[in-house]
Amino acid sequence: MLHEPLAGYVDTRLAARLFVQSAKEHGAQVLEGSTVLRVGADRESAQVMLAHATLRARRVVLAAGAATPSLAQVPGMYCRSIPLSSVRSPAKAVPAHCIIDEVSGGYIRPDGSEFLFAGGALQHDAASHQQLFFDLPGAGARNAELAQHLTGTQAMQLLDTRPGYDGYTPDFLPHIGPSPDDQRIVLATGFSGRGAKYIPAVAVELARQLAAKSPAGVPA
Ligand SMILES: Cc1cc2nc3c(=O)[nH]c(=O)nc-3n(C[C@H](O)[C@H](O)[C@H](O)COP(=O)(O)OP(=O)(O)OC[C@H]3O[C@@H](n4cnc5c(N)ncnc54)[C@H](O)[C@@H]3O)c2cc1C
Repeated sequence: MLHEPLAGYVDTRLAARLFVQSAKEHGAQVLEGSTVLRVGADRESAQVMLAHATLRARRVVLAAGAATPSLAQVPGMYCRSIPLSSVRSPAKAVPAHCIIDEVSGGYIRPDGSEFLFAGGALQHDAASHQQLFFDLPGAGARNAELAQHLTGTQAMQLLDTRPGYDGYTPDFLPHIGPSPDDQRIVLATGFSGRGAKYIPAVAVELARQLAAKSPAGVPA
């Protein structure tokens, strides 16, 4: 069962900046904007391969969301689309709070007095995000219809629809712990469309466990 405080809503850009700021305050070196091409491990170290260099560390925590299976083996993980739309209410019929409707599958989040985010359109699964099918016009129409239904107004204007996606696992539970590939590669992934609300707590607990004890055979 999931509890969604504030309907699970997180300002992801602000959260990411605050995570980086906090990591730096705790003495971490943060490299932003680089794409990891591959990760690997041997007896001496874990390696992170970038375009022009390889970084070495005792361990690597792999938290690349839906792209994680392209970097390491993650049993059973697949991708699911989450088409989300921005909708305008000319009549300013925007509720003051989020609404999640289990019956229709629709949900809305207010974004000021005139705009809202709307979701609930049909989702699709694929092995990787490059293979996902998106019918953005169809999804947008459905999201706007759900927004109208949930606000009780007929005059919603669809603005745009984004092709979001997340990494899913068969039981919707995340993979947190050593990868089947190597103990030096630690997974924190597969949050199955629900991660925004509990990733901070998961990250704190994983960091605590990694600091307290190293995986079998791996130097601390
Ligand atoms: C439209 C939408 C709405 C959602 N709404 C909610 C909600 O209301 N409540 C909720 O709890 N959850 C929600 N979720 C789900 C939540 O956002 C995810 O579960 C969560 O973000 C997953 O976190 P993550 O750290 O595993 O992956 P991500 O947040 O996807 O982060 C992975 C990061 O790794 C980076 N990366 C990937 N590959 C590489 C590479 N090769 N090299 C370098 N960097 C790489 C990516 O750029 C990204 O920054 C929503 C998701 C979507 C798409």
